[in-house]
Amino acid sequence: MIVIAIDGPAGSGKSTLARQLANALGFVYLDTGAMYRALALLAQQKGIDPADERALTRLAEAMQIQFRRVDSEQRVLLNGEDVSDTIRHPDIGRLASRISVYSGVRRALVAKQREIAQQVHGLVAEGRDTTTVVFPEAVLKIFLTASPEERARRRQAQLREQGIELTLEEVLREIRERDERDSTRPDSPLRQAEDAVRIENEHLTKEQTLQRVLELYYERVAHSG
Ligand code: C5P
Repeated sequence: MIVIAIDGPAGSGKSTLARQLANALGFVYLDTGAMYRALALLAQQKGIDPADERALTRLAEAMQIQFRRVDSEQRVLLNGEDVSDTIRHPDIGRLASRISVYSGVRRALVAKQREIAQQVHGLVAEGRDTTTVVFPEAVLKIFLTASPEERARRRQAQLREQGIELTLEEVLREIRERDERDSTRPDSPLRQAEDAVRIENEHLTKEQTLQRVLELYYERVAHSG
């Protein structure tokens, strides 16, 4: 099993890069944020108190999450139901960020992420702790980032495509809050792994970022034999 792991803050372009990289290499794409989002959605549907760590941990352990390719698009199935679009709502992102601080929740989802990796030949995983906690053995680790303002602009455009209109100030506030929460939590905070390559993609196109990472990957693979 070969793993490439990509971490970075909200709006840094991890999903786009991971998806394109997985396509280019014929690997499976693992969106770990989608798992925290799916759990948030399920908790909301079941009316579970976001402060109830035990109930959320049980829910995380029991939930069935699958990724399926439909018409070259990756869809997320939660207990058999396609929730790909619903989990992208900003409210769900906020709730995901809140409940992802719990160690029990993280343990349950990390176990599922490793299980998925076991079943495939090549994986591109993306999230906040895939380079530091989930896949420390990854052959290539990337820390992708850009300024909060640039990330807010990208997130605003993404939301607009989904028909959600927010001002840049609102999106920026949200991004700063998430950055703060994701990087200050005691369990698996977002940080750059020592052996990760940092890529600031503020002034790079998606294609340039992909090219850079492909070069790094081929260098690593060539060197490892
Ligand atoms: O990346 P995305 O915005 O979909 O992630 C939603 C939230 O899930 C993040 O803000 C973060 O709090 C949490 N998350 C996490 N660990 C991961 C992926 C996401 O804590 N590996």
